[in-house]
Amino acid sequence: LVDVEHLAKSFGEHEVLTDVSFTIERGGVTTIIGPSGSGKTTLLRSLNALEIADTGVVRIGDVTVDFEQVKPDRHGHLKKSVRQQLARLRAQSGMVFQSHNLFPHKTVVQNLIEGPVVVQRVPVSEARSEATRLLEQVGLAEHADKYPYQLSGGQQQRVGIARALALKPSLVLFDEPTSALDPELVGDVLAVIKDLAAAGWTMAIVTHEVRFAQQVSSQVLFIDGGLIVERGGPEVIAEPQQERTRKFLKRIL
Ligand code: ATP
Repeated sequence: LVDVEHLAKSFGEHEVLTDVSFTIERGGVTTIIGPSGSGKTTLLRSLNALEIADTGVVRIGDVTVDFEQVKPDRHGHLKKSVRQQLARLRAQSGMVFQSHNLFPHKTVVQNLIEGPVVVQRVPVSEARSEATRLLEQVGLAEHADKYPYQLSGGQQQRVGIARALALKPSLVLFDEPTSALDPELVGDVLAVIKDLAAAGWTMAIVTHEVRFAQQVSSQVLFIDGGLIVERGGPEVIAEPQQERTRKFLKRIL
C-alpha cells in the first residue's frame, strides 16, 4: 500500500533523514522506533506531507508524490498541480498526534463528524451513524455527547483515534500516541490500537513502547541518525542484529 523511496530531509545544515526507503503492506502495522532526535517524527510527517521532504518519493495507494518536483518558485509558491497532488496524498492518511487536538467547544460526536461532513461532504445522518460505530470500536459509545474536558486524557486520545478513522483513510499514522498520557491511561489506548490492527487497519506508529511494538508490529523499523539501521518482524526487538539497535533497546527495556 505504501512505498517510500530514498526520502531525505534537512533542516538547514542539519540532515535529519539521510536516505530512507521502506514499504508497508496493506493491513500491516509498521512501528518506528529509535533514539530521541533520530528523525522518527519527521519521517512520519513526511508520509502525509505535513513535512515536505527535500528528495525522495512517497506512494500511498494510487497517489505518488516525488518531492523532487515539490519545489516552490522564487515567490515561495507551489504550482497548483503540485498543491493538488499534496492534498491527494494528505487525504490518504489520518494522523493521531501526541495529544489529541480535539475541538474543545464541540462534543465528542461533533468532533467526529466535522471532517467527514465539512471536508468530504458526507450527509450528517450518515456521518453520525459512522461516528457511533467508531465510538463503540474505541469503547466510548456512552460518551458521545460529552465535551472533551469531561473525559480523561486516555479517553480524549481514543476520541482522537476515532476522529482520524472517521475520514476512512487508507493509512493511519500515530506519532507517539501515548507519550503525553499518565502511565495508568496508556494501556487502554494501546489496547484500542491493537484492536484496530486486528480489524485490518494499515498503520505506521512512532512509539517508545517497545513491548507494545513487539506485540502489534508486522514490521519494525529501527531508525538512528536519519537511516533505517535495522528492519524486520517483531523479533527485531527480542533479537536485534545490529549493535546500535541492541544498545538502544538495552537502555529502554
Ligand atoms: P523524539 O523521539 O524526541 O520525538 P524524533 O526521532 O521523532 O525524536 P524528530 O522529531 O524527527 O526526531 O527530529 C529530528 C531532528 O530534527 C531533531 O534534532 C529536531 O530538533 C530536528 N527538527 C525537527 N523539526 C524541525 C524543524 N521544523 N526545524 C528545525 N529542526 C527540526
